[in-house]
Amino acid sequence: MTNDGQTRVLVTGAGGFIGSHLVTYLRKRGYWVRGVDLKYPEFAPADADEFLVLDLRRWENCLEAANGIDEIYALAADMGGMGFISSHNALIFHNNALINLHTIEAAREKCVRRYLYTSSACVYPEHLQEIPNVKGLREEDAYPAAPQDGYGWEKLYTERLCQYYAEDYGIEMRTVRFHNIFGENGTWEGGREKAPAALARKIAIAKLTRTNEIEIWGDGEQTRSFCYIDDCIEGLYRLMRSNHRDPINLGQDRMVSINELADMLADIAGVEITKRYVSGPQGVRGRNSDNTKLKEVLGWEPSVSLEDGLAKTYAWIEEQVRASLIPAPAGEALPASA
Ligand code: NAD
Repeated sequence: MTNDGQTRVLVTGAGGFIGSHLVTYLRKRGYWVRGVDLKYPEFAPADADEFLVLDLRRWENCLEAANGIDEIYALAADMGGMGFISSHNALIFHNNALINLHTIEAAREKCVRRYLYTSSACVYPEHLQEIPNVKGLREEDAYPAAPQDGYGWEKLYTERLCQYYAEDYGIEMRTVRFHNIFGENGTWEGGREKAPAALARKIAIAKLTRTNEIEIWGDGEQTRSFCYIDDCIEGLYRLMRSNHRDPINLGQDRMVSINELADMLADIAGVEITKRYVSGPQGVRGRNSDNTKLKEVLGWEPSVSLEDGLAKTYAWIEEQVRASLIPAPAGEALPASA
């Protein structure tokens, strides 16, 4: 607690997409917030009371991050969209295991009371997700374990770590399994962006350059559910305040195909697009969230419609694309001495 009686919260990954939104939300709720990341937020000023640039793969940095903290939201991870996570298994497992092992142990050493770990729908077995029209995944479906990539295996392993720390050391642990969170101020280019941001970028480029064609990885019939960032943050906060100790899904349970998602974004953009299907990593064939437990435990579920969330996200991404397409003023690219 601060001298003013404020709860002191640490958000790791506070320079990233979900972390930066969470910091703003928690400050509005009256918390004192320390943000930690390898980098400052890219798209808005850091909102935290204190922001430390630290590499959380290192033990001494985790101790510094957790010092004087009451509650931790652990979001730091080396991650990205399908293209990134399907081709960097060793890097992802190594980096994320170090971050999580050290952050959790630092929480124990610094007597942190509550700890929320952000896991993923990627923990679910691949064989339950082999057709587009799949059943929603229930929390208990995670076992027997058979996640798809190193990213999913590491998430499942850290879920276990959290369970053992709760059992052996009495830390109040919460574990959330996100299903495709999207919204403004997230990575939209560079290879780590996820499907909604990548499609919005491609459609914005097609619109602004009048090419009207976009590439889709695979046949576009693979399905997912997508949850808007405001719902994600609200759900995170409610889960932290709840008494629920087991992993729980947090996502929408409306499943759409990648083709449908592209059509929705094109409608929002007001353009006709042609889809060109190319080979590329697609992940599992179909995935949806079963929200039965979420509703039971939190008495709440995400409510922002996909259309509304996509409209806000597309508007933001079109703005970024427009700015990136403006040529630099003449002379700006010249070296200072020229
Ligand atoms: P993000 O990549 O935008 O944020 C993660 C942040 O962690 C980044 O800012 C990154 O710099 C930071 N980070 C990486 N390595 C670090 C290190 N060694 N030390 C300190 N910071 C480090 O991702 P996000 O979408 O905001 O995701 C947040 C969390 O939610 C992650 O744990 C992610 O695995 C999980 N998750 C997200 C989604 C989603 O749809 N966005 C889905 C499932 C799970």
